[in-house]
Amino acid sequence: MEGCIFCKIVNGEIPSNKLYEDDKVYAFYDINPEAPTHFLVIPKDHIESANALNEKNVDIISHIFMVINKLVVDLGISDKGYRIVNNCGEDGGQTVNHLHFHVLGGRSLQWPPG
Ligand code: AMP
Ligand code: ZN
Repeated sequence: MEGCIFCKIVNGEIPSNKLYEDDKVYAFYDINPEAPTHFLVIPKDHIESANALNEKNVDIISHIFMVINKLVVDLGISDKGYRIVNNCGEDGGQTVNHLHFHVLGGRSLQWPPG
């Protein structure tokens, strides 16, 4: 989608620190990490937010979780644990309107979030 920074990361217009890519998803380190390990996993297709999931596109979610499953092992945070976060909409704190899952690990995380 034109003007979307994550679409621009997917197509290489904006550089990123890539962790993983396949035909459906792209994973890269967050530019402003909130934990020692903080990366994002996004669908290559532009999906605005969790609100825009439907029967036709929801299969991407299981694929994203399988990719996360592999990356947390590769990055050595699977055993101690980590947090998967999706911020949706204004109250959810979503600042980039392209569906993404944060994966945070490498330290003990607080709960509840602010
Ligand atoms: P959210 O607030 O849930 O929409 O998360 C957006 C995330 O994208 C934030 O954690 C930002 O630090 C991150 N971010 C924004 N621009 C970039 C970029 N160019 N490369 C990597 N991460 C980014
Ligand atoms: Zn996009």
